[in-house]
Amino acid sequence: NAHEKKHKAKNWDYRLSLECRTREGNSLKKVAKYLMTPGLISLGGGLPSSEYFPFDTLSVKVPTPPHWTEAETRESGTTLEAGKYDLQLGKSVYDISTAFNYGLGIGSPQILRFVIEHTEIVHNPPYADWNCTMTVGNTSALEMAIRMFCERGDMMLSEEYTFSAAVETASPLGVKIASVPMDEEGLSATGLDDVLSSWDEKARGASKPFLLYTVPIGQNPTGATQGEQRRRDIYAVAQKHDLYILEDDPYYFLQMQPYVGPDHPDPPPPKSREEFLKSLIPSYLSMDVDGRVMRMDSFSKVLAPGCRLGWLTASEQIIERYTKHADISTQGASGLSQLLFFKLLDEHWDHGGFLDWLVHLRMEYTKRRNVIVGACDRYLPREIVSWAPPAAGMFQALHIDYKKHRSYPAKSLLELEDEIFMACIANGTLLIKGSCFYADPTTQHDTMFFRATFCAAPFDKIEEAIKRFGDALRGSFGISN
Ligand code: PMP
Ligand code: PLP
Repeated sequence: NAHEKKHKAKNWDYRLSLECRTREGNSLKKVAKYLMTPGLISLGGGLPSSEYFPFDTLSVKVPTPPHWTEAETRESGTTLEAGKYDLQLGKSVYDISTAFNYGLGIGSPQILRFVIEHTEIVHNPPYADWNCTMTVGNTSALEMAIRMFCERGDMMLSEEYTFSAAVETASPLGVKIASVPMDEEGLSATGLDDVLSSWDEKARGASKPFLLYTVPIGQNPTGATQGEQRRRDIYAVAQKHDLYILEDDPYYFLQMQPYVGPDHPDPPPPKSREEFLKSLIPSYLSMDVDGRVMRMDSFSKVLAPGCRLGWLTASEQIIERYTKHADISTQGASGLSQLLFFKLLDEHWDHGGFLDWLVHLRMEYTKRRNVIVGACDRYLPREIVSWAPPAAGMFQALHIDYKKHRSYPAKSLLELEDEIFMACIANGTLLIKGSCFYADPTTQHDTMFFRATFCAAPFDKIEEAIKRFGDALRGSFGISN
């Protein structure tokens, strides 16, 4: 942005792993720049001729704004078409022959431009040399990021309950997690400072961590959302201890309307796109004056997870290292997915239409959240279970006062958790145990909770499942209605 004088990001050479520092990328891709030479006949790159791609046109029916529902789309959706040679024919800036051939690790310039603009609209990072790269979703981005920063034997920091795949990604890379206490707002800033200030290399068997993995919104599994002040406090701790932050934020746009309970009228949806954007909690990226954040965004929860497309935002230095890795591993995101999302987002909806779709999702998830919270109010025994309505995401944590169980303390937390889990199964409902999400299995926990998701089941099934959960709890605890 030319008129704002922004400074450059910090340099992170001293934090990069040996693997990352020694990546030279894909040497065959380096000759790509010569392809621009006028009159050049290339017998160079082994890009197959698109003549042999057995695909002529791609056609998809999608919602016509503002008619977002399945039924409306079937009725009055818009059919988008991509032809094989739309570029040559001047019909589009992107086509099948381009998208379906080899591309760049950073992603196709067409969809990349869209996500960069979107990132500027939503987050406007406060330093000069930020950039984006397409990813194959946050699972892949996180795996590549850990390899980029950590050596075997390092520890990284995260919420004490964390997305289990993050632990399962780090573990075979030889990276353990140091867990940081949480409260209703998720990661604790003072807890983070305490862990770092009192770090004992000998006792921990690892040097002081410098990488923080956090899921700041609708955290998986607790559903917690960090407020703005909490983030500012955590960012200040990150500056004090010179941390690099991995912001894994697939639920950013599943921030919901405030929860008001059944006896109050629903708060009206945001009146305008501006009001919608203002209602969103500022991301770490939006406050990242140092360039110490890698923000991972994913289309999984807002468009479709099977398309495997996301993007990440960080300083040029980090993006360059990341794409050098992508060039020789994933080779970048799927061309089919990039073309499909480009057609939808850039050529059909544009930024405004995409934001309107996100408001639609916000209202849908609000309804779902209200259904599960209403069912909890009706069916759960308050003397042993407590919950807070989530502000975002798709998870409702149900906290159990296990010390009131008749078998406590003869049975441990984990034994009781398993007993309740099995009682739920016997009663016909499945929830996930909180202990599946321990960041560090060696840390002692004294809280028990179950994770319920409200993202998929029909409303009446959500209601029934919670009722069964309540019955299972009553049975296990030996309490009557
Ligand atoms: N292995 C060999 C021997 C190749 O020649 C190529 C393509 N040039 C690849 C792997 C890359 O394959 P893919 O496109 O499936 O990643
Ligand atoms: N990160 C978190 C915290 C998640 O909860 C999930 C989805 O379950 C993912 C990442 C996976 O995202 P993606 O589909 O972009 O790989």
